[in-house]
Amino acid sequence: QNVLITGGTGFIGKYLTQVLLANNFTVSILSRTPRKSSGLITYYQWNPERDYIEEDAILNADYIIHLAGEGIVEKRWTAKRKKSILESRTKPITLIHSLLKKHNKSLNAFISASGIGIYGANTSEQICTEDTPAANDFLGLTCQEWEKTADTIGALGIRTVKIRTGIVFGRAGGFLKKITPGFKAGFGTILGSGSQYLPWIHIEDLSQIYLKSILDTKIEGPYNAVLTDDTTQLKFSKTLANLYGYSIWLPKIPQSLLKIVLGEMSDAILKGQRVSSEKIQHTGFEFQFATLETALYDCLK
Ligand code: NDP
Repeated sequence: QNVLITGGTGFIGKYLTQVLLANNFTVSILSRTPRKSSGLITYYQWNPERDYIEEDAILNADYIIHLAGEGIVEKRWTAKRKKSILESRTKPITLIHSLLKKHNKSLNAFISASGIGIYGANTSEQICTEDTPAANDFLGLTCQEWEKTADTIGALGIRTVKIRTGIVFGRAGGFLKKITPGFKAGFGTILGSGSQYLPWIHIEDLSQIYLKSILDTKIEGPYNAVLTDDTTQLKFSKTLANLYGYSIWLPKIPQSLLKIVLGEMSDAILKGQRVSSEKIQHTGFEFQFATLETALYDCLK
């Protein structure tokens, strides 16, 4: 059985590819850059902006996992950037949708990434579940539109899953890759007050959730992919510094400075979120990395 991954060249896609291969799937990757296929992975090219896609990518797929999208935190959210963040996620789905229709082709499942940003940043102790209403800030609206577009594939009668992902911890990229060099050099810091929650998931657990979404036909609709625990920015920074062998006075980066540097994006970092993992656990899923210490240790070792 073949799994096509859009954006499979990225941080999550690369890891997930290895998990799928180890579970006897063949993997195809849709990338905007031409790449040479290897024995195990077939690369297809597309250009979502020009509505171009190598049609065989879709025709040969039994499952599609949609991970493609412009980086969210890399640059300031200007109006142009916001448009690109949204359209780089929705346009590929629209393109896939029209090809499925054109060829009257079905899939066993369409599984799209989404984000816990759908619930909006907030400082409250409330634990958001999949039934919590979506927020009206930029990330909330983006995730809603992203999921609504994914549902157009569901409307073709294809089982559609939306993985509302927390901050992914892994060795090769994402949040930790950005933040660890400073900590490693002894400059550990806390962003904002430190009391805001930091909802995270280890990349192995996230990949296993994608795998389960393929294998378990009862899984459909939105699922939070995040571990519900008591990790705050302060706990995260202290744990990370400890793993680097120093227990320190941790200077805080003031909220006002972060607001100036990050603009609207600062809200997501300064406020944080608590998110429930109950729904995915009810499917029988068990987290392999269930404490902050074990997850960080695994990513740093
Ligand atoms: P990456 O940025 O590492 O990879 C995404 C891939 O998308 C890239 O390799 C690239 O592939 C493709 N891409 C980049 N820009 C565009 C664009 N403008 N149009 C179309 N394709 C583009 O992302 P991750 O692997 O970290 O994340 C995958 C998905 O999961 C994303 O949608 C992300 O928002 C979501 N997510 C990730 C989290 C995290 O902590 N990492 C947290 C929450 C959600 P190529 O250049 O080959 O075309």
